[in-house]
Amino acid sequence: MPEINKNNRREFLIKTGRAGLAAGIAASIIPSWACATGKPTVVGGGLWGEEIPYEQQPLPYAYAGMEPAIDALTMEIHYSKHAATYAKNLADEVKSVGINTGKIVLLDIIKQISKYSTKMRNNAGGHYNHEFFWKSMKASTSGNTPDGNLQSSITKDFGSFDAFKNQFADAAKNRFGSGWAWLVLSNEKKLVITSTANQDNPLMDISDIKGTPLLGLDVWEHAYYLKYQNRRPDYITAWWNIVDWSIIQKRFSKAL
Ligand code: MN
Repeated sequence: MPEINKNNRREFLIKTGRAGLAAGIAASIIPSWACATGKPTVVGGGLWGEEIPYEQQPLPYAYAGMEPAIDALTMEIHYSKHAATYAKNLADEVKSVGINTGKIVLLDIIKQISKYSTKMRNNAGGHYNHEFFWKSMKASTSGNTPDGNLQSSITKDFGSFDAFKNQFADAAKNRFGSGWAWLVLSNEKKLVITSTANQDNPLMDISDIKGTPLLGLDVWEHAYYLKYQNRRPDYITAWWNIVDWSIIQKRFSKAL
């Protein structure tokens, strides 16, 4: 985190007293790379304590960091071409509509996406979903599983971790064409699995199943085709090894 942000936060905490303390706690769960652009980080607006800015953030690992599940070339093209284009098109659309990005956070646009253009829907979703996706992964670990109350809630709502993985994988495999599979905490505080087309997500007011996304898997062909070609199920199987369950647990705790 750049020094200027630390100083700003300290000053803010001093000025705002007890309210600032709460903001400080929220800030403490935001990973340091979230501030890597040197711009102030919006704190506290995200449902899982993970505000996603309008600008594309640095990838939290090297392009080869998710191998062997995701090969370096796929990661590079996915991040620097596909995801970067969503971010650029989002910036263009936000500018053309005249949105004050200092006042309206991206999450607010996403949650009222029916009021905006198709270009906004595709690119706000595309940018948001990819930023969310990058942060959901870490270096490959075998026997990678959730723990704590997320583990017990998965067991309660799906029967077992394996049953959950099977249901999630089915949602990912059966999404026809391009889209995403999601683990969502519903508004009734139940864990549910869903999938969305294109770059939609469960935060959007147009989504069939709405709630707080905890985990999302990109099943667009651009996410896996170089290595897996038509074998989307193999990509899904390998991806379980790079899910960062500690982040998913944080989102879950925040959303409960
Ligand atoms: Mn993608």
